[in-house]
Amino acid sequence: MRTQVCIIGGGPSGLLLSQLLHRKGIDTVVLERRSRDYVLSRIRAGVLEWGTVELLREAGVGARMDREGFPHEGTYLALQNRGFRVDFKATTGKQVMVYGQTEVTADLYAARDAMDGVVIDEAEGVTPHALDSDAPFVTWHKDGTEHRIDCDFVIGCDGFHGISRPSIPNSVLREFERVYPFGWLGILSETPPVDDELIYANHPRGFALCSMRNENLSRYYIQCDVNDSLDAWSDRAFWDELKRRIPGEAAERLVTGPSIEKSIAPLRSFVAEPMRWGRLLLCGDAAHIVPPTGAKGLNLAASDVHYAYHALARHYLDGDGEGLERYSEQALSRVWKAIRFSWWFTTLMHRFPDQTEFEQRIQEAELEALEASTAAQTVMAENYVGLPY
Ligand SMILES: Cc1cc2nc3c(=O)[nH]c(=O)nc-3n(C[C@H](O)[C@H](O)[C@H](O)COP(=O)(O)OP(=O)(O)OC[C@H]3O[C@@H](n4cnc5c(N)ncnc54)[C@H](O)[C@@H]3O)c2cc1C
Repeated sequence: MRTQVCIIGGGPSGLLLSQLLHRKGIDTVVLERRSRDYVLSRIRAGVLEWGTVELLREAGVGARMDREGFPHEGTYLALQNRGFRVDFKATTGKQVMVYGQTEVTADLYAARDAMDGVVIDEAEGVTPHALDSDAPFVTWHKDGTEHRIDCDFVIGCDGFHGISRPSIPNSVLREFERVYPFGWLGILSETPPVDDELIYANHPRGFALCSMRNENLSRYYIQCDVNDSLDAWSDRAFWDELKRRIPGEAAERLVTGPSIEKSIAPLRSFVAEPMRWGRLLLCGDAAHIVPPTGAKGLNLAASDVHYAYHALARHYLDGDGEGLERYSEQALSRVWKAIRFSWWFTTLMHRFPDQTEFEQRIQEAELEALEASTAAQTVMAENYVGLPY
């Protein structure tokens, strides 16, 4: 087999890049380790920056998102059970779109099928070779047979635990990491969201977030010990704890119900440099991880795809390699700004295990300063709606 661009990983970044390149006449093959059903059932991100929204439209997959997604013009921040609103639209002229990653992935798979895009699922033992040569290739097994595909470029869209990043030699790769000393216990419930917009709450008992997927599907999180057992958190215990941490009037109108999904996620900031080595480009979680507090994970994957797509299109359509030369530098410049924002917002909103009363008061003072200052809200909003590409 031969293709121009072999993409490892059929999550949102791999599918989106494949779709964008195909529309420019550039041939791709996507190799995905899991089954399609498994990929489509993963519940993850839900807030899209406007740049992501526009990139999905450009890829021809915006129609359902535009019909069923929920534009949000602001968000609520809360401290000590009292909330205030940051108005994205008034401060930046921009907004975000609430539309689940599960739906984005389903739309991308449907679009790939409609264009006869090649996505090979359940590909085992995917291994890239000769990445520092002009003739890279990738091998894998499926149904007991070994396969090989030759290509011009390999794009690592295979997430944090993928094979692409470890293919860069240790002498070249640098990794930067912060692991936060807590996790998020999240539930999905078929109940109406407590508010039209998200509520991020700082509370001495720990952080809480009220989010949503649609009018009858809510996503709620509370900060927990990352080593907690799910069995220790009955639905009742979860709802009681959430109510303690959010503003009183929100707690009063909160509609509770059985959870249809419950999980504990660790929080981590991680960046790998460089994002290009030879004929390999990394996109999305393969190169970086952010804590979910700033809603940046999926959006950073989209901005990497934007840079990789334009770089590859320039290479194939204009014979201009500058975009590829600058890919790592351009992508990392935006990645580090999102890493900083997610770190700042996580640090501001969570209770750390060794946090003193002094540090709790400093957090509350910073939130009060944010409440009082349009300038400070504008900086927060610019980062939340997404920095320009
Ligand atoms: C539990 C959880 C909750 C999250 N919640 C949020 C949130 O609320 N907000 C937010 O913004 N972000 C969130 N994120 C992050 C967001 O989901 C990711 O940033 C986003 O999925 C990145 O997309 P990606 O395509 O780069 O990677 P992924 O979605 O991880 O996709 C990578 C794909 O590669 C495949 N793969 C892996 N290894 C191989 C291999 N060796 N060979 C072939 N295929 C392989 C995987 O099966 C997967 O399909 C969350 C992530 C997790 C794990």
